[in-house]
Parts: sequence; C-alpha cells; structure tokens
Amino acid sequence: MSRGSQSLPACEAREEVGMCLAKILDMLKKPATLSIPHPEEPRNPLATIDSVSFYLVLEKWFSDWGVPAEYQDFWRRWPVVLVPNLTYLGNPYPALTWGDQTELDPTWCNPGVLAHEMAHKSWSQLTEWQRSAFNTAYTRLAIGEDKLLNFCWHQIAYMRTTWGQNNNIEGHADCYRYLGKKMPQELKEFYPRLF
Ligand SMILES: [Zn+2]
Repeated sequence: MSRGSQSLPACEAREEVGMCLAKILDMLKKPATLSIPHPEEPRNPLATIDSVSFYLVLEKWFSDWGVPAEYQDFWRRWPVVLVPNLTYLGNPYPALTWGDQTELDPTWCNPGVLAHEMAHKSWSQLTEWQRSAFNTAYTRLAIGEDKLLNFCWHQIAYMRTTWGQNNNIEGHADCYRYLGKKMPQELKEFYPRLF
C-alpha cells in the first residue's frame, strides 16, 4: 500500500514499525562507509625471481578470494612464468595473460595482480554471448545499481576501461580483483572456476 508523500518507510504492522525504527536508528548510528574489499598491494621493487614464492602467493589468493577447492588444481596447473622487467610494445606491465600462459613481473607477484590475471583466463572460457551479457549487467550495476561496485568503479579508472566497443574485459578482471566475493551475486556466473 502506498503512503503517498510520507517520508518514513511504509510499516504496516506494529512489529514491522519496531523493525523499521531499529533499522533507522542503526543507520543513524553507523553511517554507511564503503571501502575497497581487496585494495591494491604496492609493488615490491626489491623482489626477484629467487626471492618471491609464487606458490605462497597462489595459496594466499586461493584463501583470500575464496577460490573453490575443486578448481584449485586447475589454477595450479595454469603456467605462470616470472619475467623480470616485463614489457609489452615497449611499455612496462605488471603481468600479461596470453592463450597459453601468464607472464608476471616478480616485483608485482602478489595475490591481487594474480587475481586480475586469472580472471582474464576465466574470461577466455566465456562464449561471446556470455561476454556480451556480462558487459550489459556490469555496466548497469557499476553505474549505480550496486553501491559497492559503483564506489570501486569510481575509484579505479581501469575498471572503466573498455577495449573496442563495449568490451569490459579489464572491468571484468578488476571487478574480481578488487571486490572478490563481494561482487554482485548476479555477475558471479561470468567467472568460470572462480566461484
Ligand atoms: Zn588486464
């Protein structure tokens, strides 16, 4: 039933009034603050192929991002090669994912960068139709429907990068990297072997 111009939420029964008041009081006590669930880890300029333990970084990604146990062997088998001073077309890159392997600069060997690259591998398992469906849902949620995604999308320019027309491959990877399990439920079906 509509209450017209009344500003409080429509609470029909007495118990619901109590619940609504409790919710309003709770909101007044704790203003909603949003933060990036998995903030970017800094580059470690001293890291070398010999000093980093890729195995430990992989395991930390599994635990912090909640990679399902049944898919972890798939990710353990995916070749990741450490390449010092990694560049592509003359520009330095933290990591690059190709059809057959991922290259990772040891100074950027951390769970967040790995999460981004593995999301690219996950994307490669989507059909064109699924990619298009992801682009539509991601854009709708990022421009406002999902508060946390919208917040991160404004903070991180790369989440707004598109390649070609409406291709959100980087948004797809960064949505996983920065939000992990807190990404909108509706997007998780577009991340094979990650949820
Ligand atoms: Zn990327």
